[in-house]
Amino acid sequence: MRYRALGKTGLSVSEIGFGTIPILCGHVPVLPKFYSPDQETAVAIMKKAYDYGCNFYDTAILEEYGDAELKLGEFAKTIDRSRIIISDKARFYDGAEIYREVIRSTQNLGTRPDIYFVHQVDESNVDEVFGKNGALDALYDLKREGKIGYTGIASHYYPVLYRAAKDPRVDVLQGSGNVMERGMLERIQREEVFREKGFILNKVYAAGLLIGPFSPEELIGGILGYPFTCALLGIGTFEQAEVAFAKEYPAISFSYEEVLDRLRKSFDPIGCDRCEKCVCPYGHELHTTFRQYNYFHLGKEFWAINKLKLDAELTYQHCRACTEQICMKNCERRLYVPEEMERVNQLLQAFG
Ligand code: SF4
Ligand code: SF4
Repeated sequence: MRYRALGKTGLSVSEIGFGTIPILCGHVPVLPKFYSPDQETAVAIMKKAYDYGCNFYDTAILEEYGDAELKLGEFAKTIDRSRIIISDKARFYDGAEIYREVIRSTQNLGTRPDIYFVHQVDESNVDEVFGKNGALDALYDLKREGKIGYTGIASHYYPVLYRAAKDPRVDVLQGSGNVMERGMLERIQREEVFREKGFILNKVYAAGLLIGPFSPEELIGGILGYPFTCALLGIGTFEQAEVAFAKEYPAISFSYEEVLDRLRKSFDPIGCDRCEKCVCPYGHELHTTFRQYNYFHLGKEFWAINKLKLDAELTYQHCRACTEQICMKNCERRLYVPEEMERVNQLLQAFG
């Protein structure tokens, strides 16, 4: 196992980390397939990863990851606690609320979280999170009180992560990316301010959807060149732990066209890398819509159609009538948005 320095924290973390979603039991509707091992098995799977050199375990509160937080706490009791780093998170944006969640997480884990993230920060809550008495202020206080080790911001949005990268209260960032959705990673790679922070990468397998078109070796090797600190893989079986942690994979370089060609063997993808450079004056989030289209074809049909039903038709109507097409000016993938939205609309009409 290779290790990387986690920003300025002084921590050294394994290049591959253990994502705990697949070990959860319980009803968490937003989560896809998971393996639901019982507690004893879950602890044994985590121990297997530990034996291979994994020292980073990421979880979230019960409402988000079921009982994974409790299982991680049980695992921590079975090993030398000082040898692993536990990161936890909660979707609370007010300072008092996240303060309460950190205390509850500590009780569930039976130990202090090393890193605590404000989870799912986006445009709708970012000012509250970063503002006075917001969640970030509270995490900073908790760190000074020794109740957590380090503070974190987790987001799928580049502007949020960029703001967090510049904020001295933040120690660690968490964002998403993989060989297909690499746009944000490429922006982070180019921006020096991100080198100040630890960066935890999730969605390396795209919630398992890219396994099939690609092998785990290709998905892991394909992201190794980006400047993250620890890449999380969701692990729910001993076999998955073996694949993720037993070997040190070499870095592989895939051009984006090679990635699309691979996907074209089963469907015609929309070639959006989720760089998030397109800004629509009407507030449409093209990268989210295009992701739903691609995820539909990769096997997440029910989830994707339900998401598309929320606003894709309105986006389609606006794009058809739009004369500014400002969104396309910054698209390095040169997508012709009205045409791509036509495909999205056809999918919605056929399956919505
Ligand atoms: S084509 Fe117009 S309406 Fe559609 S996303 Fe672009 S700027 Fe927005
Ligand atoms: S549509 Fe283009 S600019 Fe927008 S996220 Fe996708 S690749 Fe980036």
